[in-house]
Amino acid sequence: MIVNSGVVRDPVHPEMYFIDGVVESVVLMLTGERAVMTSSVRPPTPGGSSLHPLGLARDYRTKYFIPSMQREIADKVREILDSRFDVVLEGPASPSPKYRDRVAHLHVELDVQ
Ligand SMILES: [Zn+2]
Repeated sequence: MIVNSGVVRDPVHPEMYFIDGVVESVVLMLTGERAVMTSSVRPPTPGGSSLHPLGLARDYRTKYFIPSMQREIADKVREILDSRFDVVLEGPASPSPKYRDRVAHLHVELDVQ
């Protein structure tokens, strides 16, 4: 996993490292590229997930992949993770209209609440 400079990785729920492993494997398998973590622990942002400040969400880069590959990555990560996790493809390639106006990335969160 490549981590963007400035990304605060800890403190997070230990399951975030399980997500890292799954995303790293899926991205490498499907694209031959290393996965890139673009965000983890951060202060609350308008419209952003409230789980980032709690260490329960991570973001990964998808923007350099074609739309069909972005969706394939999201689908495979979702297939491997169990139902405690939510996997959301954001950006123009998102299957959901409500996430299409965002910068392209894969958001994965653990719903422990
Ligand atoms: Zn996020």
